[in-house]
Amino acid sequence: MPSYYPQNIFAKILRGELPCYKVYEDDKVLAFLDIMPRAPGHTLVLPKAPARNLLDVKPDDLAAVAVVSQRVANAAMKVFAADGITIQQFNEGAGGQVVFHLHVHVIPRQAGVAMKPPASAKEKPDVLADQALKLSAALKS
Ligand code: 5GP
Repeated sequence: MPSYYPQNIFAKILRGELPCYKVYEDDKVLAFLDIMPRAPGHTLVLPKAPARNLLDVKPDDLAAVAVVSQRVANAAMKVFAADGITIQQFNEGAGGQVVFHLHVHVIPRQAGVAMKPPASAKEKPDVLADQALKLSAALKS
């Protein structure tokens, strides 16, 4: 497997070199909205420590990401009045991974509504800002 590439987009977001619509942050984890959501509220949960994907992440960081993914999922159920949550996590190009810093997709779902294809359309900035505010407030309550 190739080694971690520190110039990937999510590494730049983690270093504050690129912006994001932040949903949650602690000492080990950052969660922010996907700018091309497959459904409203589509959130990405990342370890702060460098990890290419599931195959090389340290167990402690993986555990922290799993715990925050569950918290984001429960918050998203309320904020988006969701009927369910889809969790996705891709590893290496053959596994569907496009950005090579480990991330878990937390995708709120409505019954009978299909997900959009991956990276099909950029959401409007004001919509993302509003959703991030609501999700982060729900995560604090
Ligand atoms: P992967 O296939 O690697 O699991 O998914 C990468 C995800 O990152 C895709 O869902 C894509 O929409 C999202 N994405 C790509 N570029 C950016 C970006 O600059 N900011 C954010 N927030 N998401 C991005």
